[in-house]
Parts: sequence; structure tokens; C-alpha cells
Amino acid sequence: MRSFQEQYTEPEIVRLAEGLQKKPLEEALQILEGLPAEVAGEVLRHMTPEISSELLARLERREAVEILEEMAPDSAVDIMEELPQAEREELLREMEPPEAKILEELISYPPDTAGGLMSPQVVALVQDLTVEEAIAVLRRAASEAETIYYAYVVDRERRLLGVLSMRDLIMSHPKKTIAEIMHRQVVAVTADTDAEEVASLFDRYNFLALPVIDRANHLLGIVTVDDVLDVIRQETTEDMHRLVGLPKEESVLSPLRAALKRRIPWLLVNLITAFLTALVVAPFAETISAVAILAAFMPVIAGHGGNTGTQVTTLVVRGLAVGEVALGDLWRIVRKELAFGLIHGVLAGVFTAALALLLTQNPWLALIVFVAMVGNVLIAGIMGSLIPLALKRLGQDPALASAIWLTTFTDICGFLLLLGLGTLLLGRMIP
Ligand code: ATP
Ligand code: MG
Repeated sequence: MRSFQEQYTEPEIVRLAEGLQKKPLEEALQILEGLPAEVAGEVLRHMTPEISSELLARLERREAVEILEEMAPDSAVDIMEELPQAEREELLREMEPPEAKILEELISYPPDTAGGLMSPQVVALVQDLTVEEAIAVLRRAASEAETIYYAYVVDRERRLLGVLSMRDLIMSHPKKTIAEIMHRQVVAVTADTDAEEVASLFDRYNFLALPVIDRANHLLGIVTVDDVLDVIRQETTEDMHRLVGLPKEESVLSPLRAALKRRIPWLLVNLITAFLTALVVAPFAETISAVAILAAFMPVIAGHGGNTGTQVTTLVVRGLAVGEVALGDLWRIVRKELAFGLIHGVLAGVFTAALALLLTQNPWLALIVFVAMVGNVLIAGIMGSLIPLALKRLGQDPALASAIWLTTFTDICGFLLLLGLGTLLLGRMIP
């Protein structure tokens, strides 16, 4: 076991990391400098790579190298990937050659693949060992290995032959050989397997780790479930962010300068779509001045359509991401949303019309409000499913600002319906 664990327990380290993450960089840096390298490594591992790399870059190079050498290679790579190329090469040059070689190789895999997630520190057994000997090997490997819960069985060329869990080993007779008890049907991923696909394999088989192999079946490393949790969280965050035009790396803790650069462009696009809405409303100025109360219902119709559609969009985007929905389901989804929209639209319409009647005692106005509400909710249901599916069809990320397009659409349709009907029936509303 690692020695620092006598001074710092794992929960303490996690809490320390969470605390540092919120502190100004300078302050965090000072605290980090006061920690032993192995503790600092553990702390950095629990922070978002964007911030931990920033801290690492500001440390003295000697110190940064020492910390990286102490860290598990897959965690060290997560941080180094965030650094500029030149900085990264400097660090690698100063490292002990064996460590540098491992990290260099891991960095060569794209971060969103199994290779980018894996740790090379995997326990490999040869098949003629006895169970007893295998457990001894595991005991010796324990301090360095990413996990000792699974051991993979390989031949002399390190080709993957089988797998054993710690439970398999402990429950088998000590004199049996590994070849006798190993599972030969191994689920494995190649280094270039997409991280999302790796995550869905974990979801499917419920293993705690999966072996990573190359095309010729040589064991390269292991991906553990904790790394995959990060992937799942990142993918979900990314989808949520994309829906509203935020870059995936944005967080409330991002520095102001970066936030300005990354968030303003999409907000400007959003503003321009709002102008479109204004252009739709402008020609109706006369109607609005004749029946000013119509203006009071504009945000109700538009907003409710937007909310309805966003629900659908969120469901479709999530459904596509987890593979629950495919493009072929388009008509099924639209049909259901139409039925849903009709029932919900009538409900919301009656409710809003009743309010309109109460406020104005004008049945024609109530009718207009009712029709506009039903119409806009129906449109929202259709567009809410169509926009993400269309983006997917066009080969784009279905989450790509879907919510922004959708609300632009529901705003415009809501206003057109309400003000259009109002103009048509102006004579009826004002007897
Ligand atoms: P426990 O249920 O206490 O976790 P276990 O031995 O059942 O112990 P699991 O993680 O549930 O361990 O794994 C179930 C079985 O799947 C084990 O026998 C294990 O050897 C096997 N196994 C593990 N990884 C793989 C893999 N990549 N491919 C095929 N089988 C695997
Ligand atoms: Mg089990």
C-alpha cells in the first residue's frame, strides 16, 4: 500500500482537491507546493484536468516532473493532454526514461479512445502457474497495478488468452493451474475503440475493468470502471451543454476570460435569432395597439411552446446518445408527440383561454388564445423531435444548439399564430 495513506486518507484527499479547485490559482499553488509529491499527484488527479494542468504548468518543472512520476500513468496523461505541446515535451525530457516512455506511448492515443483511457499497469499471468502462485504474483504486483481485481492470462508473446477475477482465484483449489480455471471467452476492446463504446460495454457486462488489446490480440492495458464514469459524465455534460450552445469544456469555475471567449459567440447567434422574432412581431404593431391585452399573452404562448419542445428535444437527444432511439423511429416519435401535444395543448389552451376570459370578458380573444396555444404546442412537439433527428441525419451532433433552434421556432410560430389570428379576427374582438 502507498505510504502517504498513513497521513492522508482517500476522503481527505478528495476533499482537499475539491477545496483547491475553488481557490484562486496562486493560493492553490502554494498549498500544492507544500505537499509531498505523491499526495500532490493524488490531489491533482481528483481535480478537473483543465485546472490541474494549469497548476502543474505553474509549478517548478522539477517538482511537476516528480509529481507526474508518482501518479498513475493514465491520470498523469489526462493532465498532460491539457498542456501545450512544447511544455509537454519539456516535462517528458526531464522524466526518468522508463516513465517517460510509458507516458509518451499513452499520450499517442486519442483521449476519447480505449487507448486514451487505459493504464498499462495490468496484472498479466501465464497459464501454467498454479492458483497459489498466481495469488503470490498478484500480491507482489498489487502496489503498482491499476486494479488487482482481475488478472488477465497471456502467452509468451503477451497475447490475451483468458481472464480471472480475484474471487475466481480465491475460490479455486490452490494447486489447480490457471489454464484449468480461466475464462477463455474474454470481452476486450482494441486501443482505438471509441470511449463511448467502451462505456456502453461496461454498461452491458457490468465488469469492473476491461482489457485493452492491439489488432494482433496483444494485451496493452486495462480500462477501469472509474475512468469510464468520467467518460459517461463528460458525454452527458457535453450533450447538456451543446443543447444550449455551450462548449463542452465550460464550467462555472472557468476563468472569466475563457468564459467570455467561449460563451459570447453563441449568445450573439441567439440574439440574432431573437431579432428574427422581433421582425415577425413588428408588422403586427397595429393589431397590438388596437388590442393591447394580446401582448400579455405573447410570452405565455411562446414560452409554453418552448418548454414543451425542450422536453421533447431533451428526450430525443438523450435517447439518441444512449442508443435507445434511432433515425428510423422518427415517425413513431412524431406520432406520439402529436397525440401528446393535442391532449396537453387542449388542456393548456383551456386554461389560458379561461384566464383570458376572466381578464377581458372577450370570448373572441379567449378563442384566439386557445387556438394559438394548441397550435404552438403541437408545432413544438413536432419540431422538438425533428430538430435533433435532422441534425443526426445530417451527420451533426443532435444536441448541437437544438434548444436554441427550437425556441426560436416556437417563439416565431407562437407570435405568428397569436398575432395572425388576432389580425384576422380584429373586427370580431372589437365590436
Ligand atoms: P464479484 O461478483 O464479487 O464481483 P466475480 O468473480 O463474480 O466477483 P465479476 O466482476 O462479477 O467478478 O465478474 C464475473 C465473471 O466475469 C468473473 O468470473 C470474471 O472472471 C469474468 N470476467 C471478468 N472480466 C471479464 C472479461 N473482460 N471478459 C470475460 N469475462 C470476464
Ligand atoms: Mg459477480
